[in-house]
Amino acid sequence: MASPKDVDLMTYEAILFDLDGVLTATARVHSACWKQMFDEFLRQHAQESGTPFVPFDRGADYLNYVDGKPRMEGVKSFLASRGIHLPFGAPEDPPDRRTVCGLGNRKNELFRQLLMVEGADVFEGSVVLARRLRQAGKKMAVVSSSKNCMAILEVAGITDLFDYFMDGNEAQRLHLAGKPQPDTFLKAAQMLGAAPRQTVVVEDAISGVQAGRAGNFGLVIGVDRHGAPQDLVDNGADVVVADLAEFL
Ligand SMILES: [Mg+2]
Repeated sequence: MASPKDVDLMTYEAILFDLDGVLTATARVHSACWKQMFDEFLRQHAQESGTPFVPFDRGADYLNYVDGKPRMEGVKSFLASRGIHLPFGAPEDPPDRRTVCGLGNRKNELFRQLLMVEGADVFEGSVVLARRLRQAGKKMAVVSSSKNCMAILEVAGITDLFDYFMDGNEAQRLHLAGKPQPDTFLKAAQMLGAAPRQTVVVEDAISGVQAGRAGNFGLVIGVDRHGAPQDLVDNGADVVVADLAEFL
C-alpha cells in the first residue's frame, strides 16, 4: 500500500468525493436513525414470530450491510442477514408500511428530522484539502448514494466547492446502479470531462472502495474512520489515511 507522501494529487485531473464519512460526519446521525428504525421493526417482528429480539448493531451491522449503499439496498441487505424477507413495495410507500420501501422511508423521515436539529458536522481536514484542490483548478464532484446529499451540503455550507453532484436522485434519474457498482463514479468523471485513469475516488465505505476498484480509477483513497484500514485495502483502496489532511 502506498503512503500519502508518495502520492501527488496534483497530477490528477478530477477528484470524486463520497459525502458521508468523507466530507461530512453524519454517519453517527445515520446509524442512530437506522438503529431506531430497525429496532422498532425487529421488536415487532420478534413478538409476532415468537423469536428473540436481537437489536441492530450500530457497529457491525451498519458497516457490513448499510453504510454507503442506496437506502433501499441497505434495508434489503440487513433484512437478508437476519433471514427476513419483506415485499419491496413502492418508493412512495408511507413510513409505517411493512415493506422494504416503507422501512427505508421511515429511516429517511427520522434522518431529515435529526439533520435539522443537529446540523451536519464536516471533517475539517477534508474541507481544507478540498479547498486546496479547488484553488489548484481541479474538477471536483460529490458522489453519494444519499438523496439528502444537497440538503446535507447546504447545511454544512460546502456546496460551492464542487462542479457536479451525483446523488441518489441523479442516479435514479439516470438509471445508474449504486455502489459497489462503479456506474455513479464513472458517470461523474465523464460529467467532469476526466478519464477514469486521471480521476481520484475518495471513499470511507467498503462498498465505495469496491466501486473505485471496479471502475479502474487512477487512485482510490480509503478514509479509515473505524480503525480498520486493512478492510479498505482488501476491498480496493490504493492508499488509506485516517484524515485527508495527511495529503496537505
Ligand atoms: Mg461514506
